[in-house]
Amino acid sequence: MTDTQQLLELDKQHIWHPYSAMGSDVPVYPVESAHGVRIKLTDGRELIDGMASWWSVIHGYNHPVLNEAVNTQLQKMAHVMFGGLTHQPAVELAELLVRLTPEPLQTVFFADSGSVAVEVAMKMAIQYQHARGKPQRQRFITLRSGYHGDTFGAMSVCDPVTGMHSLFSRVLPQQIFVDAPGCRFGDACTNDDIEPMVDALAKHYSETAAVILEPIVQGAGGMRFYAAEYLQRVRALCEEYDVLLILDEIATGFGRTGKLFAAEHAGVAPDIMCVGKALTGGYMTLAATLTTRHVAEAISHGEPGVFMHGPTFMANPLACATALASIGLLLDTDWQSNVRRIEQGLTAGLSACRDMAQVADVRVLGAIGVVELQQPVNMQTIMPKFVEAGVWVRPFGKLVYVMPPYVMNNEELQHLTSAVTAVVAGL
Ligand SMILES: *Cc1c(COP(=O)(O)O)cnc(C)c1O
Repeated sequence: MTDTQQLLELDKQHIWHPYSAMGSDVPVYPVESAHGVRIKLTDGRELIDGMASWWSVIHGYNHPVLNEAVNTQLQKMAHVMFGGLTHQPAVELAELLVRLTPEPLQTVFFADSGSVAVEVAMKMAIQYQHARGKPQRQRFITLRSGYHGDTFGAMSVCDPVTGMHSLFSRVLPQQIFVDAPGCRFGDACTNDDIEPMVDALAKHYSETAAVILEPIVQGAGGMRFYAAEYLQRVRALCEEYDVLLILDEIATGFGRTGKLFAAEHAGVAPDIMCVGKALTGGYMTLAATLTTRHVAEAISHGEPGVFMHGPTFMANPLACATALASIGLLLDTDWQSNVRRIEQGLTAGLSACRDMAQVADVRVLGAIGVVELQQPVNMQTIMPKFVEAGVWVRPFGKLVYVMPPYVMNNEELQHLTSAVTAVVAGL
């Protein structure tokens, strides 16, 4: 056996991949290295990356500035516990996140993945309500077609159908689900659109800790883009019913939708906000949960007098140093016009898909392009087609979507959209 064959054989025998089955015939491809927007396979083929490794690799792979940040920090320490100790990368990153996010957000909890950041946000909301004498407020209102992660708390607020809640019904907390808004991004939000949220709050506010949503873009639960006005109205409703608003910016944060954070499209500030994915430019796993002084003080003065969470690898210095470098790199460039350029390239490049019978919808927002099909794709047959076309695109269900690194040039972008168009045309 060649090395690659052996590697694939061992992989197939022993390793779970995301949402995979053991022994499945859906291919996995061995990667040798990655540079800029290109992923190089061990057989020498190079793929233009349409996924940014799930929203995260905004500056491309193997970036000299990020490599340098890792190396520099590595000479000082790779890790140190965060209980009773602190360090410059964490402090500087917290200060920067507080400065960049909406003004009321003033405190930062560093978590080790997006799912954990969501767990932390939910626990903060519950501890806040408990501290202000409302211990019965432990449920969450959220939207159908949402996605917030794979741990139990996060799962409980994911779409109940695609999240297979029936399978876990005895252990999952029962949350309150509201139909996803029908108003698309750019539309007004009508009373009909907001009515299900009004009803849910009117009925359940006294047992609800918070409303939790992905702002503007619902990601892995359906890749839907909804009206900014909807978010404004939800914010107002949360005030009216005195429940917290949690915004999950894990997918949308750091420029993906054309604003630094998607909530800026609506000019809305949450009480609690989660960031992750692009935080370290895709180098390391790190996420954060921010909250307001008001929420933080209530938790700190309530029972048991501390916030009940503390991961072993909290605020990992390598990850914090890389996040600082990645955000610095973003802010040093004219990322807005870059994302706008990609938006135009995706709009033009995917437009031919609109007229195909197998396509239900094509939508683009910022550096996100979605081709929604009439039927779910067959992963086993479609993945080799993308690879043969020289691109890395990984659909799910009926959704073929791309969110390239912001550094992708127009020629590469055209290659990517042409490949998507050709593969979809051949379905
Ligand atoms: C990916 C994602 C998460 C979960 O993040 P992980 O790092 O995979 O745990 C949570 N919320 C949203 C909106 C996401 O896109």
